[in-house]
Amino acid sequence: MSEKVYWIEATDNEQDELLCDRLKMLIRAENLLECIAAQDITAVKTHFGESQKLGYARPLYLKMLGECIKDRGGVPFLTETSTLYKGNRSDAIRHIAHAHSQGFDYASTGMPIIMADGLCGDEEYVVPIQGKAYSAVHIAALFAKCNALVMVSHFTGHLAAGFGASLKNLGMGCASRKGKMEQHSTAKPKIVAKKCTGCGTCVKWCPQDAITLCEELAVMNTDICIGCGECLAMCRFDAVKFDWGATYEDLQKKVVEHAMGICSLFRDKTLFVNVLTRISKDCDCMGHTFEKIAPDIGILVSRDPVALDAASLDLVEKQAGKTLAQLAYDIPYRFQLDYAEELHFGNREYELIKV
Ligand code: SF4
Ligand code: SF4
Repeated sequence: MSEKVYWIEATDNEQDELLCDRLKMLIRAENLLECIAAQDITAVKTHFGESQKLGYARPLYLKMLGECIKDRGGVPFLTETSTLYKGNRSDAIRHIAHAHSQGFDYASTGMPIIMADGLCGDEEYVVPIQGKAYSAVHIAALFAKCNALVMVSHFTGHLAAGFGASLKNLGMGCASRKGKMEQHSTAKPKIVAKKCTGCGTCVKWCPQDAITLCEELAVMNTDICIGCGECLAMCRFDAVKFDWGATYEDLQKKVVEHAMGICSLFRDKTLFVNVLTRISKDCDCMGHTFEKIAPDIGILVSRDPVALDAASLDLVEKQAGKTLAQLAYDIPYRFQLDYAEELHFGNREYELIKV
């Protein structure tokens, strides 16, 4: 049986205010938050974006969702987890200050921000799963204390997973630091010496200070590299290579298994929203560039993250008239959907309902 995916279609560059109003009407008309009961502590998980990046879901969507949750009697809060790499999102203090500077303050969203993985990203909860890579996954501790989960994800290309949307936001975005490390552990870059010009761009952007210049050649310390891929995205000379052939399946499997773990805590008390506007080649963690790769498509909503991501991906490719491999990275990105279905975590068959 196929899962319902609702599509609020946007014209290119349509105002967020109009899309948000239509999303609110859809949620009320279809009773999409009926899973939330009085006093349910409801985590609203999103990504606050990077300061130079334009693509993240704007605070007004979160404000509207918070109000809808309160209308049901629920108790919502905004939440996120710390990044693996050093920077302005690597601990709760800096991350919350950054979120405020991006417009996600209480006045704008009506919800407090509570970091799901504690002050330093290490507060975790171990969820047993029946996966193939893991028998248990490490997720941010706070989710274990919540009654319901609403995910707001921005669809983007992604250099390791092919694309990032609800599954990626669940699997990587809700994992503790240890869970993130376990997912990233197998991917490490290499420098192609004959292509490296010694320009130093990768040195500047590496969040771990894992790259140094030695006689005008980039040298990597793979012991401290966390496999984030920033150097690959930044090098203009094609001098950074990742052995994705061995790892892309591995990474996507691990993301899906972590996503399955967190969803198992909530059963049917979830709602997933994908924002398909300002779709960029790289994910919202990559603060350096904004390269729009597809026309604005709108907002998609479902109770099934697998159906939602499948529908989102199909629409991006259809509206752009190209495959995602042509638009962003040539990676077998549909693997994550196939694997989720193989684990009986969600359904990639969907019924698209245009609103
Ligand atoms: S960005 Fe590329 S070319 Fe420049 S130093 Fe780094 S690897 Fe070499
Ligand atoms: S993947 Fe590249 S940018 Fe990221 S930590 Fe490793 S060396 Fe640094």
